[in-house]
This record gives sequence, C-alpha cells and structure tokens, in this order.
Amino acid sequence: MSMEGGCTCRNVRYRLTGGPLIVHACHCTWCQRETGTVHAVNAMYEAERVEHLAAEPEIIDTPSASGKGQKIARCPICKVAVWSNYPGSGPAVRFVRVGTMDDPSQCPPDVHIFTSTKQPWVTLPPSAKVFAEFYGIDEVWSDEAKERRRIMREKAGKK
Ligand SMILES: [Zn+2]
Repeated sequence: MSMEGGCTCRNVRYRLTGGPLIVHACHCTWCQRETGTVHAVNAMYEAERVEHLAAEPEIIDTPSASGKGQKIARCPICKVAVWSNYPGSGPAVRFVRVGTMDDPSQCPPDVHIFTSTKQPWVTLPPSAKVFAEFYGIDEVWSDEAKERRRIMREKAGKK
C-alpha cells in the first residue's frame, strides 16, 4: 500500500509507505479554526514513511491548545498544510492531512476525538468510535500500530 498526495500547487508532493498508525477526526476548536471547517482528518505516520518527492515543505511554529505549540509543514509557495508535528509525539510522528492525499477515501477516520466541541449539525455514524476528549492508546490502536509505536519509541530511546 502506497499513497501519494501534496499541496494545491503541486510544489510539495509526498508518498506514504503502508497504512497509517491511526486516523483521527479531531473536532477540537483549534482544528476547526486551522482547517476552516468542522474537523481535521489526520493520518498518523512515522516520519520516515512520509517521503517528499518534490520540494521540502516549510515548517511553521503554530500555537496549539496544549500551549506547547505544533509545527505545521506547509508548501512554501501555496502555503497549504500537508502534515504537522505535535509536542506529545514529537518529530517522529507526522499527522498527515488526509484531505491532501490524492485519494482521501483510503483513510477514513478510525476514531473521532474532542467531540465535546463537535458542531451540533455534524452527525457521526452509529458505528463510529467517539471520545469526548482523548482516548487511551492501548484500548484503541490496532496491535500492528502498537508494535510500530513500540519500535518508534525504542529508536527514540524511550521505554
Ligand atoms: Zn503548493
């Protein structure tokens, strides 16, 4: 499984290796503002699985709900955001903006988070995994994703 995507002007193009660790639909008010819509859809990938095929994105320090800030990778020309890093998982994990993929239907959300601030007119399917705030990784991530996370943390020297 290999997917490609990029910004609107095609200056930044990326290729993703394999499937995502997990796909979040985040309904927090910060994601609503940053995307200009009702929720973000982010596919989490190990950084080395996100390969840039053309220009390198520019990394913009952006305020975040945690107060610790996030780094958003944007095309230097059209400024469209293609992925971001959050302080919790650091530079090792890229949150790829699913809407920038050539075929976003490959990455439907596995989980909806921060639905306490979901817009009231957004209706989620009854089968959706929904969390008012955040969740515990052990309960939600697949065994394969947990194993990939373990390897990532081992590389980073974390237990
Ligand atoms: Zn661009």
